[in-house]
Amino acid sequence: MTVTDSHPATPLPLLLLGRGADSATERGVECPGDLPAASDPDLVDRARRAREALGERAFLLGHHYQRDEVIQFADVTGDSFKLAKDAAARPEAEYIIFCGVHFMAESADILTGDHQQVILPDLAAGCSMADMARLLQVEDAWARLTDAGVAASTVPITYMNSSADIKAFVGRNGGAVCTSSNAQRALEWAFERGEKVLFLPDQHLGRNTAVLQLGMSLDDCVVIDPHKPNFGVSDDELANARMLLWKGHCSVHGRFSIDSVNDVRARVPGVNVLVHPECKHEVVNAADYVGSTEYIIKTIADAPSGSAWAVGTELNLVKRLAQEYPDKNVVFLDRNVCFCSTMNRIDLPHLVWAMESLVEGRVVNRIEVDADTSHWAKVALDRMLALPAR
Ligand code: SF4
Repeated sequence: MTVTDSHPATPLPLLLLGRGADSATERGVECPGDLPAASDPDLVDRARRAREALGERAFLLGHHYQRDEVIQFADVTGDSFKLAKDAAARPEAEYIIFCGVHFMAESADILTGDHQQVILPDLAAGCSMADMARLLQVEDAWARLTDAGVAASTVPITYMNSSADIKAFVGRNGGAVCTSSNAQRALEWAFERGEKVLFLPDQHLGRNTAVLQLGMSLDDCVVIDPHKPNFGVSDDELANARMLLWKGHCSVHGRFSIDSVNDVRARVPGVNVLVHPECKHEVVNAADYVGSTEYIIKTIADAPSGSAWAVGTELNLVKRLAQEYPDKNVVFLDRNVCFCSTMNRIDLPHLVWAMESLVEGRVVNRIEVDADTSHWAKVALDRMLALPAR
């Protein structure tokens, strides 16, 4: 592990399996090996019965990237921010069952009441992007900016896809959360308050928004690499840059390449390439359309019959869009990029286990953010909610 000059090494570079542990979640730990397949009708039936037994006491949220076998039981579907707001709008639900990943369940806990309990069916459903920015690393980077004399003129902005403690850090330091839908407004807001932005944890969303929507140049951006001495930047580079991009990325969207775009254009005549802004800058540049998950869904829904689309986002969603709109040719942008492995950790056996446990009065895999972190993370979330509409 690389040790930076300015601070001691943090204990682990990534928390690939989420935060916290509950061995009862892990089917591999005690499982005798006789669990039925996810599509087993008995399992589907058990899920239905458990869901019925829970009734209004539970509210089940399903992120767009979840498997079909799970999404069929969702009361609402959406992106991470919509789902957190949906959860907050259901104060009568005792249990919020979040079929998504860890940072999303944390946001739901922050935005829901103390009487509500948020459940993540598998604690191993983390997010590799969120895990690329850890609080100790970010605090050390902030100290580096302070030493270089630029922290006072820097506003931190964190993408929704970050852990609660990073959101809280941003809240404490005068910054805000953003989503892929409102990143431009969040950056404009930040530049009214400071000369520079520290953008966490997705370098691609930060760079794409700064260059394509705010008209900056690539030279205005530097990358803050927590695994390099001095975070990989000189004092001069910090002084001259406007966008300080944390070196994080999505392990799904970051894999699409120019070759993916060229290949699909050769394979599918007249295809429109539609990608998420978590993709690399060169991929976004080569695409025809770029936008958030909700934008992608709406673009396909509104597209004329017979049109062809190559979509660069998570495969579960692309497959569902292709099934939903058989009159349009919707294909996945790359033949080799796979599902989001952590999103896919939530499967029907875990969901059934979580729901049946609740029916029996046992709360499992509760996600609970401590009061101080929750307070400051909510400050950052509220600043986002107060961003002026465009
Ligand atoms: S798709 Fe990317 S950002 Fe979303 S949960 Fe998976 S790794 Fe994280």
